Amino acid sequence: MLRLNTLRNLSRLKLFYGFDILRRDSVVCRLCLASLSTGRKFDLSKLSKLGPDGFLQAEAEGLHNLNVSKSVVALSESNPMHASSMEHISKAGLIIYLDVKASDILERLQKMNVSHVVGHEVGIPMEKILSHRQQFYENNYDIRIICGAYESAGDIADKVLKAIRKCDRNEGYISTRAPVTSSSQATFNDVLLQGLAPDGGLYVPAGSFPYFTKAQWLRLVPLTFAERAQRILEQWISPSDVHPADLSIMVNAAYAEAYFPIEKLYQDKSHNQEYIMELFHGSTASFKDASLQLTPKLFQHAMNKTNTPHRYLILVATSGDTGGAVLDSFSKLEDNNINVMVLYPEDRINAIQKAQLTSVKASNVKVIGVSSDFDFCQTTIRGIFNDKKLEEELLLKYNCKLSTANSINWGQLITQVIYHASAYLELVKQKRINVGQEVDLCIPSGNFSNMLSAYYAMQMGIPFRYLVCASNMNNVLTEFFNTGHYALASRALHKTSSPAIDILKPSNLERFLYHVLGRDSDKVSNFYQTLDASGYCSISKQDLKRIQKLVIADWCVESSTGRCIQNTYKKTGYLMDPHTAVAKVVADKFQDDHVPMIIASTAHYAKFAPDVLHSLGYKMSDAKDYKSMFRDLESLTARPAIPVTLKQNISNPEEHNVIIQPSITRIANEIKAFLSP
Ligand SMILES: *Cc1c(COP(=O)(O)O)cnc(C)c1O
Repeated sequence: MLRLNTLRNLSRLKLFYGFDILRRDSVVCRLCLASLSTGRKFDLSKLSKLGPDGFLQAEAEGLHNLNVSKSVVALSESNPMHASSMEHISKAGLIIYLDVKASDILERLQKMNVSHVVGHEVGIPMEKILSHRQQFYENNYDIRIICGAYESAGDIADKVLKAIRKCDRNEGYISTRAPVTSSSQATFNDVLLQGLAPDGGLYVPAGSFPYFTKAQWLRLVPLTFAERAQRILEQWISPSDVHPADLSIMVNAAYAEAYFPIEKLYQDKSHNQEYIMELFHGSTASFKDASLQLTPKLFQHAMNKTNTPHRYLILVATSGDTGGAVLDSFSKLEDNNINVMVLYPEDRINAIQKAQLTSVKASNVKVIGVSSDFDFCQTTIRGIFNDKKLEEELLLKYNCKLSTANSINWGQLITQVIYHASAYLELVKQKRINVGQEVDLCIPSGNFSNMLSAYYAMQMGIPFRYLVCASNMNNVLTEFFNTGHYALASRALHKTSSPAIDILKPSNLERFLYHVLGRDSDKVSNFYQTLDASGYCSISKQDLKRIQKLVIADWCVESSTGRCIQNTYKKTGYLMDPHTAVAKVVADKFQDDHVPMIIASTAHYAKFAPDVLHSLGYKMSDAKDYKSMFRDLESLTARPAIPVTLKQNISNPEEHNVIIQPSITRIANEIKAFLSP
């Protein structure tokens, strides 16, 4: 990696660009042209003799022969079209791609009276040439700099330097409980593989958050979800951890068919500004699918990249939806070095969730019901992770380490940033808002991962005014955000129609507190020690005020959830699941007519068919099975339709039927049995 203090110290840095904005900028060193005539004057007559193909070849030879150090090399716009010469030059340092909008380039070319480009036949429209070349640019860079419209060369040079410094430092990740003075040792790939930090805390980036300006966000507006994902993730992941070319393969495989529509809920003037962001169009019909399309691929990549000599067992506690999504996505890897074990609270999840969990047939997965609640499953997993003896035994006897794939794992969180940002861009694309305009975002919150990812999107420059935290009657977070008191001792967990948010100890609140309380790990550690010891903890008035600038919170009773499902359906023909309805009830309370409100819809209603039908006044009996419930739901012809995959889920045969008592020893024994050959 290059060290870089001042511009004069630029070493082993090369530049190539979609357009030569930097060429005239005196700030950015002497640029040498790796072309026909390195160091000499450009010879036009020679060029016409060579013809387009000959030109590319000659130019590539120039690049092959170029051995530079301590320089900024401006590659020509056609250099990237020659693969082997690019490979040669890429060994010398970083390749920076100045990603400039095609129409800006065209406009400038027109002003400069440029009508054709070397390397192409005369007469081909410039537009065609640019779009043809785009693919070569996309395949040949270490760092992409997204250039906003009409940004000055100076602005862009600043961005380049910042990006290089960031890449150079690659600050890595730190635990929320690491001593304030410690520095990070963990890379992105370590963090992905480890899941939980060794000190029991959660990993967060050690450096500052990435940021896009308004002009940069605007560039992302016309793009597909996968293209947005690529650009956003590049900001979070250093190219030395996941190279953009590898990322691109994974992102395109994961999100080629990504579909996260956002639509206005009411067509009339009432609740004028409410939008529904549908996050449930994945294989298991909850929003967990969205990030889990990508995380298994990143996990596998991390194992390869770090030459991991052992297997992994991914341990997951699920409140219903995570387990299904994890099993679906990890079983598709068909990798026996990456095993998955899911613990679910046996009588706290519904029949369709259970069917999704217990019907997965793959040699690398195991599903276990626990006669307890989700908090027990989650706490047990953290306990197992902190058991050093067990860790040693698993490695020694089974050549296996443990990891996580729920939202404890950092990989899950950054992939969720994408759809929050993308929903905002979608509203811009639909001309509902202008870029930069504030919107509110309301999320039914369980483990607080979706909220936290929205906070990260906000730190990246998406102008959410408030993140609205919606709870059901397990409203510990509502109380906390409104009063600063976190009171667990006096609470029992209530079973509700929105089980995925029946959570009293949301793991990602820890990360959130770490960030908003000034990255003070002592404060965070003390908070959780006190909470664990006494079931109660509070934060100062000052800290509460800081938090309330970002988050507002409320909750709703069960009867309001049901009424909301029914009323919304009657008024709009739109049917919501109970989690979404919780968010809608809370969003209604805070909605003002001037600021659009996005409501995160986290599951398809058919996944919670019994409660949804009950809300609509259907008589429910224990004898009623899912097939007949789906028939009832279908007869309503509500929006959105029932996904085919859900219907398939309930007809698959059961593959897993183990139920165990809530004991950490028993769970440890199950792990060992599963890993035994
Ligand atoms: C997981 C889940 C939630 C809660 O999301 P968190 O990120 O854990 O807060 C909400 N609704 C549904 C349907 C879920 O599956």
